[in-house]
Amino acid sequence: MFDNLSTKLDKAFKNLKGQGSITEINVATTVKEIRRALIDADVNFKVAKEVTDEIKNKSLGQDILISVSPGQMLVKITQDELTSLMGGTQENIVLEGNPAVILIAGLQGSGKTTFTGKLASRLKKEGKSVMLAACDIYRPAAIDQLKVLGEQVGVEVYAEPENKNAVEIAQKAIAEAKAQNKKVVIVDTAGRLAVDEQMMNEIAAVKDAIQPSETLFVVDSMTGQDAVNTAKTFNDRLDFDGVVLTKLDGDTRGGAAISIRKVVEKPIKFISYGEKMDALDVFYPERMAQRVLG
Ligand code: GDP
Repeated sequence: MFDNLSTKLDKAFKNLKGQGSITEINVATTVKEIRRALIDADVNFKVAKEVTDEIKNKSLGQDILISVSPGQMLVKITQDELTSLMGGTQENIVLEGNPAVILIAGLQGSGKTTFTGKLASRLKKEGKSVMLAACDIYRPAAIDQLKVLGEQVGVEVYAEPENKNAVEIAQKAIAEAKAQNKKVVIVDTAGRLAVDEQMMNEIAAVKDAIQPSETLFVVDSMTGQDAVNTAKTFNDRLDFDGVVLTKLDGDTRGGAAISIRKVVEKPIKFISYGEKMDALDVFYPERMAQRVLG
């Protein structure tokens, strides 16, 4: 489905023979190819332009190495740029408090509940005792889904199907976890199909009341360019701490990772790549840069 960028760039560089360094003229064509590759990978157009302008500045005047092709060299410069744009290094979640509270937010269908189960499983494997709080008060099916996942990974789920007050459920779950000496509570909240004022107010109220040490925004990587707008809206309201990029097992290059990091300036902390409970990994910027460029 995707052409190899390095080969494309080598073609664009075919007139370069005999020149000792990358010049203004030959970089212009190649930068266009890189920009197209980024947009194909779902990187936001504006972000792709900023990135390629930066790459252009960095590559001008660089000596062409004998050992690699100019295309490979530009791909390397681009990969390094994308890696640093995504924060350079892997960032962990913050678990503070007794119990530590993690709040999960995102649109309906983004993979919030699935991720909540996966994170619980991961923390449990690290030896931490975990409780899940089912605060999606609108969809009874969401509570059932969380219960099924909780059972699957062996973690208790606190739910009150008759209670329509998400703040109260979250607070009671935390009190219960404290009484049981659990170390971490993960609060799964309600999402909507699109951003909606009432949903935002509700999640903001939950966050205010429970003061989580980590608020994670979950976003479907397949939503491409829309992912950035959603991330921005959630961040403006919630000031979240990190992003979870889901459905990377689908056929997206994952360019949303770059746009989101650049636009909201928050680190991506986890990637989810399947429906199984172990299809979760921490986020490595370098690996994602390689994936985006292919
Ligand atoms: P929520 O509404 O945000 O809680 O989303 P869910 O966790 O219910 O996920 C919505 C759908 O996407 C479900 O069918 C999940 O099984 C599926 N899903 C969640 N995460 C992933 C993932 O990483 N990869 C794939 N392929 N499917 C996922």
